Amino acid sequence: MRYAELPQHWQRIFALEWLSVCKGSKAIAAVITDENGNIISEGRNMTCERTVPNPAAAHAETEAIRNLDTARYPDKQAYTLYAGLEPCIMCMGTLVMGGIRRVVIAARDEFGGAMHLIGQSEFAARKGIRVTWLSDGLGDMQRAFQTVRELLYNDDPEKLGRMLRDFSVHNENGVRAAQTLVRSGRIVQLLDPDAAPAVLDALAEITEKLNDGLQTDEPG
Ligand SMILES: [Zn+2]
Repeated sequence: MRYAELPQHWQRIFALEWLSVCKGSKAIAAVITDENGNIISEGRNMTCERTVPNPAAAHAETEAIRNLDTARYPDKQAYTLYAGLEPCIMCMGTLVMGGIRRVVIAARDEFGGAMHLIGQSEFAARKGIRVTWLSDGLGDMQRAFQTVRELLYNDDPEKLGRMLRDFSVHNENGVRAAQTLVRSGRIVQLLDPDAAPAVLDALAEITEKLNDGLQTDEPG
């Protein structure tokens, strides 16, 4: 996998995620596409930014759904929300109430994910939301981006360890790739919003080596 080969909506998601990392927020983003695949809304995590009111609730999927201009794009049931990470309980509720009926998710989140709750609510289940879980390596990239963010900013060793264990449940090689990249020191030059393609390509290259069982530690 290389950034240049990704569909436009996944390129945008990882570009937004890296922008959030550069601003100190979490590496989580989402976009909404119309029936022709054009991006018509987007959102990124801003939970560590002081430019928004109550940033704790500034989650990617909720932002993307709130940002959708429904006067211009009224046919909500035809649109697809692409999410790097499984939506949390708030974002799941927002997509149910926001009229989104198709969701594509890259990484499962055993700890904070809430998509299973849709089936536990008759109200939500009746909305007929169709969820597609991807299994093509994008989940590893999602967790790799999140791991880079935590390694850069999370200075609570206990919390960091717990988070990386959560990230590793389904995407261990993505987590390990991020650890290798940060350890190499290369990440310092990449901490620029325009560097998202270079970050993804570096992480993908290391992940591919891990998947092949090769040694990945780099000098430095
Ligand atoms: Zn959320």
